[in-house]
Parts: sequence; C-alpha cells; structure tokens
Amino acid sequence: MNTLQAYRFALDPNNTQLADLHRHAGAARFVFNWGLARVKAALSQREAEQTYGLTGDMLTPVPWTLPALRLEWNKAKPRAAPWWAECSKEAFSAGLDRLAQGLKNFTDSRKGKRKGRRVGFPRFKKRGKARDSFRYTTGVYGPAGDRHVKLPRIGRVKVSEAMGALTGRLAGGVARLLGATVSRTAGRWFVSFTVQVAREVPPGPSGRQRTAGPVGVDLGVKHLAVLSTGEMIANPKHLTASLRRLRTASRAYARSKPGSAGRAKRAARLARIHARVAHQRRHGLHTLTTRLAKTHDTIVVEDLHVAGTVRNRRLARAVSDTGMAEVRRQLSYKTSWYESALVVADRWYPSSKTCSGCGWQDPNLSLSDRTFACQSCGLVIDRDVNAAVNLRHLVAASTSETVNARGADRKTRAGGRVAGKREPGTAQADQTGGASPRGEAA
Ligand SMILES: [Zn+2]
Repeated sequence: MNTLQAYRFALDPNNTQLADLHRHAGAARFVFNWGLARVKAALSQREAEQTYGLTGDMLTPVPWTLPALRLEWNKAKPRAAPWWAECSKEAFSAGLDRLAQGLKNFTDSRKGKRKGRRVGFPRFKKRGKARDSFRYTTGVYGPAGDRHVKLPRIGRVKVSEAMGALTGRLAGGVARLLGATVSRTAGRWFVSFTVQVAREVPPGPSGRQRTAGPVGVDLGVKHLAVLSTGEMIANPKHLTASLRRLRTASRAYARSKPGSAGRAKRAARLARIHARVAHQRRHGLHTLTTRLAKTHDTIVVEDLHVAGTVRNRRLARAVSDTGMAEVRRQLSYKTSWYESALVVADRWYPSSKTCSGCGWQDPNLSLSDRTFACQSCGLVIDRDVNAAVNLRHLVAASTSETVNARGADRKTRAGGRVAGKREPGTAQADQTGGASPRGEAA
C-alpha cells in the first residue's frame, strides 16, 4: 500500500544561502502578484468588451489555469523580471501554481463545489506579511548525506536535525520523493519533503496488534485527550511549559506600544513560541493517534466546526491548542494504515450533555461544569469521560457497518432523533448510535 508522508527538517543555511532562500521566496511572491495583476487586467478588459456587446471568442481570454499562466509568464518574463535567471524556474512555477489553485478554489467555492468557508478572490501578497515559501517538484533535490539537503540553485544546505528516518527509507527503496517545500516560520527556514512510502499492510486480523474494541475520544483543553476507558492523557510536559511561556509573551506583547521597536521584538518572540507550541502539540498528538489506530478497532471522535469556533476569540486558543482538526487528520490516514476505522460523530450530537448511563440530557450544562451529574439515574462522572463514553456508544449500534468500513473516514448522523427529544429519560444510551449511520466517505 502506498501512502503519502511529509518529512520536515529545520535548515541551517549560511549567509549566501540565506539570501538565496529569500530571493526564491520573493520570486514566488513576485510571480504570484504579477499573475494576479494580469488576471485582474484581463477581467476588467473583458467587462468593458461585454458592455460593447462582444461575446464568446471575441472576448479577451483570462489566463486562469496553470498552463495558461505559465505561457503568459514565459512570454513576459524578460521584461517583467530581467533577473529571472537568478532563480530556479521552480520558484516561479510554485508562485503561479499557488495562484491557479487560489483561482480554482474561488470558482469552486462560488459554484458550491467546495466545502467549508467561502473562499474569496486571491489577494496580492505583501512582503513581510505573506508566508515565505516555494516548492520544488522537478530537478535534483533531496537529502545529500546525513547532514545536508540539495536544493537546485541554492546548493547543499546544512540541516539541523537528523534525517535518518527519511534517508533510510529512500536508500531502502521503500520511499520516493515527490516534492520539496521550503518555507520560513518564525524566522527559521524549513524544508518539507513529500514522500510516497510503500507501507507493509498488517497481515490480516490475526496478525494485528489490536485487541481493544471501540474507543471514544474527547479532546480537551486541560488534557490532551480523554478516552472512554476513563484514561486521561495529559498534555506533554514541555508543551505545558511552552504554554506558560506563551501566556507571558502574549501579555508582554499586548502591553507594548503599537509601532515601537519593542513591540516588533516581542511579536517575533511570540511567533517563535507559537511555532514551538504547534510543533510540540503535533508531536504529542502523533504519539496518541498512532497508539489509538494500532490498538483499537474503531475510534470515534467528534466533528467540531473548527472554522466556526476559531472565529470566537475566547475559544480560539483553546481550540487551536488542542488541535482537534489535526487529530482527525492524523487518524483518518493512520486508521487506513492499521486497518482500523474512524467514525466522526455528527457535530450536533450532544455528547457532553447526554448521560452516558441512561441517556438523560442536561440542557443547562455549561462549559465551566467539569462534572456531569445525572438527575435521572444519579450517575456522577467527569464531564470529558462522559462525553467520550457517549461517543463510544455511537459505534455499538452500528458494528456491522463499521467492520465494512475499515479504514474509511465515516460520518455518522446520530443526533437527529436524540437531539430532537428533550424530555428526560426518553433516549436510551444504546440508542444514541442511530440505527442508520450514513456511510458517506469523507
Ligand atoms: Zn443517567
């Protein structure tokens, strides 16, 4: 079975290379903006032509796709960017590709072909504001020895992390490089290799490490996660320390005077800590999701409307810190590696408000209530454990479908019936699964 994986390493470039990295990211941004200006000009030209009654082939064409943009760029570059030869052509390709993708996302979103938040028309990228990055897909790039990577036009750049996991797989022929993205985060440059890896499929049910049945996972703020088994997985220690540092740094930033040199310095420090927190959290979640996918048949998580919640500023940190979207992303591919199944509960399924013992619902439960106390059967249980158990109940009612859907990321719409009934005691816990989960593959 082939899977895609990314390997990311921090770079340690010398001064010449550093200037080259900036130049390449600048080239990608330049060509993006050049293309966007070109598209906008063509669009307004067309609009004018239409008012004169022109239609169809008589109208000015708009370069909307990557091949069309590339064609135009190759004609225009000697005049638009006389310095173009100083950069790898891949940097220009990357910028145009990103523009074409942005235009496509815009069209798809307007036509309703794209899920999630509405995507606006691409905007010009400002230097210093936009993320610096570019990508290689052709040419000679990749690890060179244990401590360096080779990047076309830039040369052999030192890396500050061990690359053994990647180089071993490449040497053994189990991995193939598909692309390399070079980007800058909080003042540091990174290279991320996209790699196709041939993975060994676990040898059938008997050879699996899995012994445990379904598990519900509730992602928390105080804890990294709480399982329906009652296990609470703490945030990694170093993450807790970084979070504390993050708090002080953001307070210092908020106190500083807008526009001052001190503010810029504090913003940079804040960004560095943010990057470290994100890295540490991702690492902690990887350990957790691998263990879950390896040991459990079925993993049930909640579908949180992340796009909607992140806009709520008070919840923003809590939500992004616990990385619910990241957990779901990791589980959806790891369950296919290990042949377990992922079930995503409907976003409106009231997992926190429902008693996991009898199905009674507490409509008044607030976010600050840490304990769930049932007024129908008397169960007193940790709020997050209760939610996790409810999530696990979701699969109990749909075991046969789950088995068939191994490795698939399914959505189960369980809330409908339960959510509709508010009277105490009408919904049994084992009914909350809903008899007919909809097996849409996400
Ligand atoms: Zn109860």
